[in-house]
Amino acid sequence: MQIGLTPTASINGVEIRVPPKTLITSPKVWTMLFGGNRDVASETLRHALPPQLLGLAEEAAQILSITWTKIKPYGDIPDGDLIAVDYDWNGESLLVLRQMSRRVHDDGAKFGIRLPIAEVNLEFLNRPAWRLTAATSIGRISEDVKAKADVNALQTESLSTTAGEKVVYCVLSDYGDYLWQAVNVLLEETEADLLVFDRPVIGAVGSTLKGCGIYRHAHFSRRESIGLIYQWMFEFANHLHQQHPNLQLGITSMAYGVEKPDLAVFQHFDLFLP
Ligand SMILES: [Zn+2]
Repeated sequence: MQIGLTPTASINGVEIRVPPKTLITSPKVWTMLFGGNRDVASETLRHALPPQLLGLAEEAAQILSITWTKIKPYGDIPDGDLIAVDYDWNGESLLVLRQMSRRVHDDGAKFGIRLPIAEVNLEFLNRPAWRLTAATSIGRISEDVKAKADVNALQTESLSTTAGEKVVYCVLSDYGDYLWQAVNVLLEETEADLLVFDRPVIGAVGSTLKGCGIYRHAHFSRRESIGLIYQWMFEFANHLHQQHPNLQLGITSMAYGVEKPDLAVFQHFDLFLP
């Protein structure tokens, strides 16, 4: 099974074309998942690899390094009945949620919350400076220059909002700190058993260009922001697991930005929801 980031022009910043018979150094990594016995998997892998990958072919100078990482199986939804609510950053009363979670727990069921991590209703929280904006310029204009223009445009735009309008905020802006606190309060109030990260996080809705081009956030460029946003999500997931040992964490493919789970998902989340 091949897993990992699906190669797309929007994620891969650089394409390297190698003419025949020339050598190149490329830190290409394949991640593969095996179930069951490790020795059997190792033998299967050795037989399945083409000779050039094993460094046997004359012109191949590839260094094969295999690292085995044991991961826990995923897909274990909490035992018993699960009642999940969609939290939509619309200023729902925490009191109502707390009462609901207590009723669910009293009935012996588990309580789950599906949370749009970075997508927030503007009527609830309107902070133009926190918005994730994909720089759209292609060519020689630096992304930072474009980002400055975006910031100015955002600052002068009207604050009036359409009812129900939602935007994606960049977790590398101060929104990240806000979210960190808000989710901790949410979990303390509701004693939720499952929290699912949902909706777009690494890119704006409807945009195939991933990342954030606003230079005032804690990243320098759109390209750099992608890795840092993932890093932020993993740190946040680790923090939540540490603070709430019984909490199960899930993430949807939309929030994670790819259709198939990769190794990092299994290391930081309990569930991956297509
Ligand atoms: Zn940003």
